[in-house]
Formats: sequence, C-alpha cells, structure tokens
Amino acid sequence: MQTDVIVVGAGPAGSTAARGIAERGAGVLLLERAKFPRDKPCGGGVTVRCAALLPFSIEPVVEDVITGARMKIRGHREVNRDSKAPITYMTQRRRLDAFLVEQAQAAGAEFRDGQGVTGIVRLPDGTFEVTTKDGTHHARVIIGADGANGVVGNRLGYEAAGESAVALEGNYAYPDGVPADLRHRVVLHFGDYPGGYGWIFPKGDHVNIGVGGWKSAMGPRLRELLQHLCQTYGFDVDDLQGLRGHHLPMQRRGMVMAAAGSALVGDAAGLVDPLSGEGIYGALRSGSLIVPAVEDYLAGRVKTLAGYQLALERDLIPEVETSVALMEIFHAWPDPFVWLLQHFGPFWGGACAAIRGETTYIDLTYRLGAPGRALLGPAARAGRFVSSRRVARG
Ligand SMILES: Cc1cc2nc3c(=O)[nH]c(=O)nc-3n(C[C@H](O)[C@H](O)[C@H](O)COP(=O)(O)OP(=O)(O)OC[C@H]3O[C@@H](n4cnc5c(N)ncnc54)[C@H](O)[C@@H]3O)c2cc1C
Repeated sequence: MQTDVIVVGAGPAGSTAARGIAERGAGVLLLERAKFPRDKPCGGGVTVRCAALLPFSIEPVVEDVITGARMKIRGHREVNRDSKAPITYMTQRRRLDAFLVEQAQAAGAEFRDGQGVTGIVRLPDGTFEVTTKDGTHHARVIIGADGANGVVGNRLGYEAAGESAVALEGNYAYPDGVPADLRHRVVLHFGDYPGGYGWIFPKGDHVNIGVGGWKSAMGPRLRELLQHLCQTYGFDVDDLQGLRGHHLPMQRRGMVMAAAGSALVGDAAGLVDPLSGEGIYGALRSGSLIVPAVEDYLAGRVKTLAGYQLALERDLIPEVETSVALMEIFHAWPDPFVWLLQHFGPFWGGACAAIRGETTYIDLTYRLGAPGRALLGPAARAGRFVSSRRVARG
C-alpha cells in the first residue's frame, strides 16, 4: 500500500497521531501488532488533564470517577483526602485504546491490527518501506508509536528511551461490583517501594492492584512487593488475575525524537511522567504535537519533522524534567512529602490542581520560592528550562 503516513502502534499515542493527521486530510495507515481489542500492563488511570487533551469525551469507556485518595506510608495510619471535582477517570486499556482507534478510523485513518511491523527501510528518495507479515507498504512519513524499544526507533537508529522504572499489576475481581470503600478513591501506599508506590485503582467489576518504581531496586522484588501491598490491604496475591509487568520508559537527556520524515511519540519517545508514572498524558500530548509538523512536511514547507521535537522541548520536556527533580526529592524524603499531602490542604490542593491540569509542576515549584528553585537545580534557578538539545537533521 502507498500512503502519506504510516503510524506503527495503536496505543493512545499512535491513534491520536493517526486521528490528527487524517483530520488534516492526509492518508494514514495505522499498523498494530496485536489483535484488537487488546489489554496492556497499565493501571488505566486517565487524569483530568490528560482527558482534556482530547476533543471528545472518553465517558463511554470510564468505569469510575476518582475524587479522592486513601494515602498511607508504610504501616502508619491511613488518611483520606477528597476533592470537590473529579481528579482522574478509571478505564481499562482494552476499552480505551479500542475507543481511540475508532475515533482515528472515523477521521479517515485506515487501521490494520494483527500486523506487527518487522522491517523498515529508508529509501534513497527519503520515503519509507515498511514490512509486515502480510506485505510491504510505502509512505513519506513514519511515526513510531510502538512503545519502549519499538521497532521504528530501533531500525531507524534512534537511541532507546531509558528503562529505569518497572511496574507489575493484576486485577482482583468483584463480579457483584466493587465495595463502596474502594470506589471513587485511589488507594496509594508509599514508603516501601523505592522510586515509586503501590496502588489500588477501582474499575467497574474489579480493582487493579500494582506496584512500580526504580528498576534497579524493585525489578528483582516486584512480586514480593506486590504481595506486600496485597497483604497490607487484605488481598491474596494469588487471587490476582492477569499479572503483567512492564517497563516505564523515561527520557534520556538529549534524546532525539524526530528526523527527516520520521518521529517517535509516547512511550517510544520515553514520555512517561517520572514522579507519577503517568504515560497516557505524554502519549496523547506527543500524538497531538506531531500533527502540525507532519502537515508542514507533507506540504513541503519543511524538510524535517524537527518542529515536533522543538514543540516537545517547549511544551512537555520542561515538565518531565521538573517531575524528575520532584521525584528525587520525594524519594529522598518520602515521609514529609506524604505528611504534607495528607495534612496540609494547600499541598493536596496543589497536587489535585496539577493532576487536573489547572497548574503545572513548574508553577507549583515556583510557588515554593527560592527553596523550590534551589532544589530544582541550575535550569530552574536561572528561571528557564530552555534545552540545549540538538535537533536531528538526518
Ligand atoms: C503497570 C503499568 C501501569 C501503568 N499505569 C498507568 C496509568 O494508570 N495511567 C497512565 O497514564 N499511564 C500508566 N502507565 C503508562 C502507560 O501504560 C504508557 O505510558 C502508555 O501506554 C503509552 O502509550 P503508547 O501509545 O506510547 O504505547 P502503548 O500503549 O504501549 O502502545 C504501543 C502499541 O504498539 C504496538 N506495537 C509494538 N510493536 C509493534 C510493531 N512492531 N508493529 C506494530 N505494532 C507494534 C503494541 O502492540 C501496542 O499496542 C502504566 C504503565 C505500566 C507498565
């Protein structure tokens, strides 16, 4: 098949890019390895700021609306905090991703599932030849939305995103509905998970229970830590269904995410938020930011997709870098951080505002004044987050 753009991978990043590009009138082929609907390791939490990136409601696939949190550090007393407005929507990835693909198809993108991409070659004229088990396709642009260590980045010589974080999760079934004390609030357990936390997220007929954190410290102990979380809240880890683990890819300093006619979005570009582990936001944001760059490239107004990289560096990377700094502070002193969340209204309110997209990590940090800027390092102290990354020209 000959088309303008091939998007590899139909997670939130790929379907968002495919929808946006198709809406602007270009031909898009969205290739997906799995047969849809498919599940993937994920808590399925879509923050309000994340859902707000979409021009349509995800209400048809929302199973619970979160307005509060039950928080506890190690064996200490649990504290509940609530918010007047929704903070996060709970869905299942098999439902969310299928829904997002439907929107891309409605915009005109052609979706083919069960089509793992095995080969990508950049031809002398700058176009791409893409191979799946069923044949060969050609396009002027290729977008890698195929997750960490995806085939697109690998074949085209991009540096892989860092694999510093891992998570393991499973579902505990409640066929008659989730009990009231687990509905509408997330359970967050801190202190026992280096670089991360444990969670219980309510869905329609089950809860999702998981742990995540630094790969170096948690990788070999993921199951043991999940068992610990289960015991803390009265579950048996052996009762969890569909246990799945995965990496959470993180940005490397200076990572190149775009070149002539190719780009990486979502997990393939390492856009997970280091503090929270939220990755769907980075997927949707990058999947939208790539659209104008592709439109300009197809129209011949630019020679590379470098505009996308610059847009990421302006709009998203500063937040990711601030999140790294906050994550390091949090994990150096988890007790005061959690205490503030539990007992200090403005701190909890600030966290909710950030999750809703009413403020940003950078704004919150600046509100702390000089101590905040000092903690966040030289870039923040200088009052700017301008990156010195070079944009690929190749
Ligand atoms: C345990 C765990 C819990 C998480 N919980 C949350 C959460 O609650 N909220 C949140 O915001 N984030 C969460 N994340 C992060 C989030 O899951 C990811 O950041 C997000 O899925 C990234 O979306 P994506 O579209 O970039 O990639 P993906 O969703 O991984 O999609 C990539 C797609 O590419 C396809 N693919 C791969 N290779 C090929 C190929 N060769 N050819 C064709 N297709 C291919 C895959 O089958 C897949 O469908 C969690 C992650 C983990 C591991």
